[in-house]
Amino acid sequence: MTTALASHTTPEVRSLLDDTLLHELSHGLLGPYHVLFPERFDANAAAFREALAEAGVEGRVYYAKKANKAAVYTERAAVAGLGVDVASRGELREALAAGVRGEDLVVTGPAKTQDLLRVAVLQSALIAVDALDELDRVLELAGHLGRTARVLLRRLPPEQPHSRFGLDEGELESALRRCVGAPVHMEGFSFHLSGYDVRQRTDLAAELIALCRQARALGLRADRISIGGGFAVDYVGADDWRRFEESRRPEHFHAGKSFGGFYPYHSPVAGADALRTILAATPTGSAEGTSLAGLLRAAGVALLVEPGRALLDQAGFSVFRVQGVKERDGYAVLTVDGSSLSLSEQWFDSEFLPDPVLVPGGARPVADAGPYPACVGAATCLESDMLTWRKIPFPVRPAVGDLLVYLNTAGYQMDSNESPFHELPLPPKVVVEPAGSRFRWRLDRHPH
Ligand SMILES: *Cc1c(COP(=O)(O)O)cnc(C)c1O
Repeated sequence: MTTALASHTTPEVRSLLDDTLLHELSHGLLGPYHVLFPERFDANAAAFREALAEAGVEGRVYYAKKANKAAVYTERAAVAGLGVDVASRGELREALAAGVRGEDLVVTGPAKTQDLLRVAVLQSALIAVDALDELDRVLELAGHLGRTARVLLRRLPPEQPHSRFGLDEGELESALRRCVGAPVHMEGFSFHLSGYDVRQRTDLAAELIALCRQARALGLRADRISIGGGFAVDYVGADDWRRFEESRRPEHFHAGKSFGGFYPYHSPVAGADALRTILAATPTGSAEGTSLAGLLRAAGVALLVEPGRALLDQAGFSVFRVQGVKERDGYAVLTVDGSSLSLSEQWFDSEFLPDPVLVPGGARPVADAGPYPACVGAATCLESDMLTWRKIPFPVRPAVGDLLVYLNTAGYQMDSNESPFHELPLPPKVVVEPAGSRFRWRLDRHPH
């Protein structure tokens, strides 16, 4: 039997799951939809700022916009005075339209287009330079526009030498020489690591502080470093996760499917606590045993962070309606009114594992004891278009008209991969906010 992987929830999520609003919206919007909670975004952002303040570290939080296309989170970032991390003309346009000031943007991504760089320089955005040829283009552009470009130099992580991002040691030296006397404010260095290791982030941050000292010796400003994103999100409890990992077998998945690997859905240290841990740790080889926070303060270096997923923790979920139930040998194949394009983990040889919550369409007698295992397929003609391959142990027998709610999907899951495949409309996004004892909703402003 498969084990349950119950998603963590919040009070507002629980009361919304009990509310008639979800069924009403499914009826009114004629298909699947995503729910967004801007207040949770605000709370997550406040927690990151709190972690910086507690450590006595000067710093700035930039929301990594690629984690979700909705307008509402970027608008909240603007209002709260957060920065925003953008990596394309479209993201930059959306951020400016949401009210984020140019100087509060950091532009990341490899080999940025000339268009993107021009607007970034004109808007005084901070540019994380990824390569020497890109630096040359920035300097030339700044000269041409009669402006001073603001740049960070992105470090290739020595522990991830096969990364295609960033400058290696030799390239950094060359980049520093090129910045001297050029129309540029060389404000510091950056990295973004894949994975969620806190130790690697502490160590590499310490190396960037040392690089700032080198750069200052050349007369450059170098007073900030960015440690990027990659603050883990904790989706499920430790016991559920351990049981799942210990008992995992191909028979637990439809068609005996197996996967390359899974996101670490349980993380003992997550979100702003991960930042706390990074700041409190002593970098490897730090002679005086000083914490990273202490090193930053001593060097007068500010810390920039660019969380995406972690700012969206519990800030949204995705709702599908069951439109068919087919019995198989010992389990059911559910078909819902959308596709796995709205659950992007399914497209990375992996699976979004937390159990979707079944919200019954009407009162039903609980016949015999559950659980009722079922996998979840899409309303498309592709054999492999499954929202969930795993045979989820549902507490009641799913029926047509029930809703399946995939919780905590705002970070990367809901819309990274969506397309109107099969001429199915893109699921709309519904912004939900508490209003007294009820909820108010409106559509998000982002144009598809
Ligand atoms: C994707 C990305 C982020 C955000 O990563 P999360 O894992 O969502 O926190 C931050 N910075 C850069 C440069 C990125 O590419």
